[in-house]
Amino acid sequence: MTRAPQHFDVLIVGAGLSGIGAGWHLQKLCPGKSYVILEQRERIGGTWDLFRYPGIRSDSDMLTMGYSFRPWTLPKSISPGDDIRDYIAGTARDKGIDRNIRFRHQIQRASWSTPDAKWTVEAVRKSPDGSSEPVTLTCNFLFSCAGYYRYSSGYLPEFPNVNRFQGQMIHPQLWPTDLDYAGKRVVVIGSGATAVTLIPAMAKTVAHITMLQRSPTYMISAPARDRIANSLRRVLPAMWAYKLSRWKNLAFLTLFYQLSQRFPKFIKKVLLKRVREQLGPDYDVETHFTPRYNPWAQRLCLVPDADMFEAINSGQASVVTDQIETFTEKGILLKSGKELEADIIVTATGLVMQMLGGIELSVDGQQVDPGKALAYKGVMLSGVPNLASVFGYVNASWTLKADLICNYVCRLLNIMERKGMRQVTPTPNGESAVAPFVERFSSGYVQRAIPNWPKQGQKAPWRVYQNYFRDTFALKWTAIDDGALEFSNPQAEVRSQKSGVRTAVISS
Ligand SMILES: Cc1cc2nc3c(=O)[nH]c(=O)nc-3n(C[C@H](O)[C@H](O)[C@H](O)COP(=O)(O)OP(=O)(O)OC[C@H]3O[C@@H](n4cnc5c(N)ncnc54)[C@H](O)[C@@H]3O)c2cc1C
Repeated sequence: MTRAPQHFDVLIVGAGLSGIGAGWHLQKLCPGKSYVILEQRERIGGTWDLFRYPGIRSDSDMLTMGYSFRPWTLPKSISPGDDIRDYIAGTARDKGIDRNIRFRHQIQRASWSTPDAKWTVEAVRKSPDGSSEPVTLTCNFLFSCAGYYRYSSGYLPEFPNVNRFQGQMIHPQLWPTDLDYAGKRVVVIGSGATAVTLIPAMAKTVAHITMLQRSPTYMISAPARDRIANSLRRVLPAMWAYKLSRWKNLAFLTLFYQLSQRFPKFIKKVLLKRVREQLGPDYDVETHFTPRYNPWAQRLCLVPDADMFEAINSGQASVVTDQIETFTEKGILLKSGKELEADIIVTATGLVMQMLGGIELSVDGQQVDPGKALAYKGVMLSGVPNLASVFGYVNASWTLKADLICNYVCRLLNIMERKGMRQVTPTPNGESAVAPFVERFSSGYVQRAIPNWPKQGQKAPWRVYQNYFRDTFALKWTAIDDGALEFSNPQAEVRSQKSGVRTAVISS
């Protein structure tokens, strides 16, 4: 006899920052709901457990990247990765969320059945000995907290004659823990947050480290320790101090972003002036630190305590702005004719963006193509019932939006409970796709993937905001039942159809 799969009210994908936050919100706001978290890896932490390259740290402040419900109390607000991992794991432990996690479960497929009003979720459970077995669970609501990129490997462009290189090549996403780089010549390809993080960390012991970039990125230095937040913590209860510091940073970041959108030339001037002050009058800021795009058309690179600029000033690190002609046995030959010799080449070339942790979705036997759907409030997909996913901000801390989405999902579940409705489906009613999921953002990893991501419509609730204040209104303070969500009760309908009475699908 085959046993029915184990059933949960909510199934959360992923035990990273968002998945643990989702568990906390469910326990607090929907205490009657059962939930499980399936995590493909062996540990809690997601990004903050996966990435192990030297110096790994946040590139936004932990006062806005921490959870709204748990104060960040460490002195460094630009925080080392280990501390972020401990913060996430500590939250899971203290609240008993960890008891609901099933590790080594990689979800591959989820199929929605309208007559049953539930998802059937198929996963593969991998044992430490390498063997694996299929696992099937069912749930009423699927909540994807699977992050936004492929875990198995990062993005690697096709470099000419890469196999000729005799040294070691490393991608930061798969950093070998035993890599010995002391006294070595290192070239880092890329100029994003990863390059800017690992270069100052490695510069302390390498012979020399070169950042090779095709084009520059905006950088801004800031103290790793937030003096105001640390002072407030000395005189106020931790939560009060956290909330005040969080609002201070939120207000500053929002103002800075808005000014960048309205007065890009002015903000560009301010940013470049600061870089010149850090690197001195003789440094060629024009070539190496003056991007071709406007501020915030890509994520701004944060340089804590000016460490990247100090590494350059010390002579241990340098920047080369050029293009790769070919790899050679000794390193990289550039279009300019210059050759960069290296023992180690680090390809800080980015991520491969991935929707919903690579899970294949189907609704009543029909495969779902997220690229053809509209995003509802940036949280749900048009035509797909009982599914929500977390995608944070590109211009601010991820967790700000993750918290709002978790809160929203709990409100939605509670409304469904009150209405006695088992199914909720975002229904566009004539709204059509007019914009990509992320707009006015030119970073390569976004541009490569965005055609496969859901689209935005003309107006709310089919818009995806990159603005915490607008989202607070849209996700926290606006009525759930807004006319774009179709609530229904499939089982009740089937029953009443059988008895000759058709129950109306409730949509407001
Ligand atoms: C190097 C790096 C630095 C970053 N720095 C910042 C920063 O400073 N500030 C900021 O706001 N954001 C930053 N980000 C974005 C970052 O991803 C978020 O801060 C945050 O970690 C996202 O949390 P998450 O839980 O949503 O996703 P993740 O951390 O990616 O966690 C997702 C989890 O889901 C699991 N999972 C995925 N697919 C499946 C599946 N099919 N089945 C089962 N489990 C699955 C994964 O194993 C993982 O544990 C950074 C990203 C990177 C890569």
